[in-house]
This record gives sequence, structure tokens and C-alpha cells, in this order.
Amino acid sequence: MRSTERSRIDLHAHSSASDGVLGPSELVARAAGRGIQVLALTDHDTTAGIAEARQAARRHGVGLVPAIEMSTAAGGKPLHVVGLGIDPDAASLRRAIGRLRELRAERARGIGHRLERLGIAGAYEGACAEAGAAVPGRAHFARWLLGRGICADNAEIFSRLLGRGRPAYVATPWPELEDTVACIREAGGVAVLAHPMRYEFTASWLRRIAARFRECGGSAMEVVMANQPRRDTATAADIARRCGLKGSVGSDFHAPGAHAPELGVFGALPPDIEPVWESLPAASVLPGRTAAP
Ligand code: AMP
Ligand code: MN
Ligand code: MN
Ligand code: MN
Repeated sequence: MRSTERSRIDLHAHSSASDGVLGPSELVARAAGRGIQVLALTDHDTTAGIAEARQAARRHGVGLVPAIEMSTAAGGKPLHVVGLGIDPDAASLRRAIGRLRELRAERARGIGHRLERLGIAGAYEGACAEAGAAVPGRAHFARWLLGRGICADNAEIFSRLLGRGRPAYVATPWPELEDTVACIREAGGVAVLAHPMRYEFTASWLRRIAARFRECGGSAMEVVMANQPRRDTATAADIARRCGLKGSVGSDFHAPGAHAPELGVFGALPPDIEPVWESLPAASVLPGRTAAP
């Protein structure tokens, strides 16, 4: 069941610069129309949409947090870390993004080969077409596969083909958690452990990862997400408290859709958890201002 609560702050959203379907200005316009006052653009492993989003945010009077969702790994398992308030031009971040782009491009070719061996030809080219200027990711493959009627929905595509350990999954040597957090901090950002309840880690593994994340300089965890069961929010809140992490909130919006996560549609952060947005540099949030000089 979807929460009908509305938040004026949404710190996790994608544009077509990665695997979202709306362009950066369309995304900001949608956020403004839904009463969002502060929006973080968190594209996967790229900051390419930030300049356009900033301009649109200025026009709409929305606070835009320049951000990124970085692919990383801990203990051999992939996970995502959001960097909020990063300087997109920071040298460390530019280097890391270059490396992630290579890893993603190589992985996309690998996924294409695997699908071909499974009898599905043309998937790589199809995903490239879906991706446009972005590097094709799994969501682009999923969209192309859906368009071909290969599975009934996204969930089935991931559970049958693209999900971890499935036949078209390509394991990727993402940078280690410590290096990712260091890179975000060097770029002036705040590191946030993304959607902790979505990894299907055991509770003890998740607690260990959260403690390790805190120890290496991580600041917060996404406690409240769109379409997240209450029990999961309670578990994430409990881990954040134990590990001394602040709380973040976000939809992980990718595309408009009746059942898809929607911008700002999620509950409130539990009142005893410190909101991460209160410690973001004002320059990275206020409409009409930018972190750049
Ligand atoms: P990637 O970063 O290319 O590995 O792809 C991760 C993205 O794939 C996520 O951000 C979602 O957009 C999408 N994704 C992953 N798992 C699922 C799922 N089970 N159902 C729908 N989309 C998913
Ligand atoms: Mn995505
Ligand atoms: Mn993610
Ligand atoms: Mn995301």
C-alpha cells in the first residue's frame, strides 16, 4: 500500500541523464508542480543533468541539491551511495565518474552478450537506443525487453534475467565503499547509504555495512523511501539510530506511472532522527544560488 503523505523534500530522483525518463528540466518542473521545495538530482554515476536542472530550479523556485548516486561495493556485494551537495567539477569526482562510466559501458556489452546467448538478439543496441546520451544501464535493458514483450513487467525482468545472480547479470568490480565515501567527501558532499532495505541483506550484514559506512565517513541513511513498507522504515530507523547515522528521505523517482514511486510521496522521518538536509550547505540548496562561484 502506498503512503499518501506528501513531503516537500525529496533527496533521491533520476533524470534521463541516467535511467530516468524525464529530462532534468522536466523533472524539476514536475517536482515544482507537486509542491517540492528541495529536490536532489541523484543520477547513477553521472552529474551530466545538474547544470540543466539548476537552471530549471531557478526558474521554478525549487531548491536543487547537486547530487549523484554512486555504484560501489562492500564485502563483494554491490550497493549504492548517494552523495548530496557535491561539487560536480571536483577533480576526485570527475576521475571516479570516468572510471564508473568505463565499468558501466563494459558491463552493458557483457549484458548484451549474455542476452544474445539466451537467444535474445539486439539487446545491446536496443538498450543504447533507450539510453540516448546516457550509458546503458539495467533499466534501459529492462525497458527494451519490456517493449519486446519478453516479460510481463519490470519485476519479472529483474527476477528472471537482470537481477543479481540471474543469467544476464554481469558482476562488476565497483569501487570499494571507503573509496566512494572519500570521493564524495572530497567533492564537498555528504555520503548517504541509499535504500538500505532493498538489498535483501540479512539484518546483521546490513548493520555491519552501516557501521562500516559510518566509520569511513558516511553521514546518513535513506530511512524513508516511497513504496516502502512501514516495517522496513522501522528497521532502517533502528539501524540509523544504532550506528549514529542521520536520516534522509526520497522517492527514487524514475518515471511517471500509476504504481511507480512518485516524487515526494512518502511518510515523514521519525522525529528522533536528525534530518540530513539540515546540515547541507545552504549554497547547494537555495533556489537561484549555486555551489559554483
Ligand atoms: P544499474 O545501476 O544499471 O545496475 O541498475 C539499477 C537500476 O535498475 C535501479 O536504479 C532501478 O532503476 C532498476 N532496478 C533494479 N532492480 C529493479 C527491480 N527489481 N525492478 C525494477 N527496476 C529495478
Ligand atoms: Mn535506476
Ligand atoms: Mn539505487
Ligand atoms: Mn536511485
